Order: sequence, then structure tokens, then C-alpha cells
Amino acid sequence: MGVKRYVEVVSMSGRFPGEVRPMPLHSLVDLVNDWGEVPRVIGGTADRPYPSVDSLRERDPEFWADFPGTDEATLIETANLIHPVFAAESGMQCAQRLNDLVALSQLQPALSSRDWSVREVWHSARPDRALLASATLALIEQLRDEPDASRLGTCACDTCVDAYVDMSPGGRRAYCSVTCQNRARARTYRANRKASTSGAD
Ligand SMILES: [Zn+2]
Repeated sequence: MGVKRYVEVVSMSGRFPGEVRPMPLHSLVDLVNDWGEVPRVIGGTADRPYPSVDSLRERDPEFWADFPGTDEATLIETANLIHPVFAAESGMQCAQRLNDLVALSQLQPALSSRDWSVREVWHSARPDRALLASATLALIEQLRDEPDASRLGTCACDTCVDAYVDMSPGGRRAYCSVTCQNRARARTYRANRKASTSGAD
């Protein structure tokens, strides 16, 4: 009986009960960069107001529908906890930081079924950290697809530490955006010109 009811619950909601769903990666990156304290301070935007939560909702309405009452404090806390994973200086540090977040959000894998279909899902025992659980799971799933943790990076520009996920074939991305890449190129160009000019004196 219990199984039957369980199957009905699953088919109604379209997913497994209590299943943590990974945050879409572009939402995750926007969250970290727009609400995280370090990216805002280094990027010089700390005194600007935070964007509206609706900017995240509009991009991924289906995901954010599960988080109707998300407030600014939760977004800031989640961003501040996730940014250090992107800023990790080694695979070991990345893994350690993710393990800490798994513990903090009490994420656990479990096997769940739908009819004869059995698969691994993740649950969180901390409803108050549901957003952190979704963000953490997004990074776990990204690493499952692509174990190279250097692809979870922060911008190499002097005035920016925004997070990015490097999806390029070569995996050599170093900047969060074309804007930062161009800024860094212009700076290098000016520095080289200055060096060659002063060398000619
Ligand atoms: Zn940048």
C-alpha cells in the first residue's frame, strides 16, 4: 500500500519526494557574483543595491518556483558559502570545501524508485539550507560530468573575482567575461608600451 501511494506522489509531482534538485549553473554563477560579498567588494559594487530576486526567477522560473520565499539574507549567505569553492587553489581544496557544504546542508544520497526505475537522488535534512543544498548539488553534478575542478574558477582580472564555469573545449578560460578579458588585455598592452617607451629613453 505504502509503495503504491509513494508511486502516486511521484507521478503527481513529476519527481522523487524530498529530492534536492541542482540549481541551474547560470543561476548559481549569477547568485555567487551578484550576492557574494567578496565579488562585490573586489568588483567595487559593494555599495550598490543587490539585484532583485526576480532577476534569478525570470531566468529559471521552474527551479526558483521551489523557493518562493527566498530572501536577500539567504541569497547572500548561500553566495558567500559557495564562492570559496570557485576560488579553491587546488582540487583538494575544492573537494574539502564541497565536503564542508555537504555536511552543512546535510546532503545525503539515497536510492529512490519510480515503478521499476531505481536511481540515486539526494536529500537534505536541513530545510533551512535548501538553497545551499541545491547549489552544492549543482557543483557535485558538474564535477561528475567534468572532474577537472580548475574549470570552476574565479576571474583573473585585477579588479574582479567573479565565478565562472569553464565549458570551453580547451579548458583554458581565465576570465569571467569578455569585458574582463579585454580589460586585462588593454592593461597588458599599456604596460608593455610603457616598458618599451621607457626602454627607448
Ligand atoms: Zn571578471
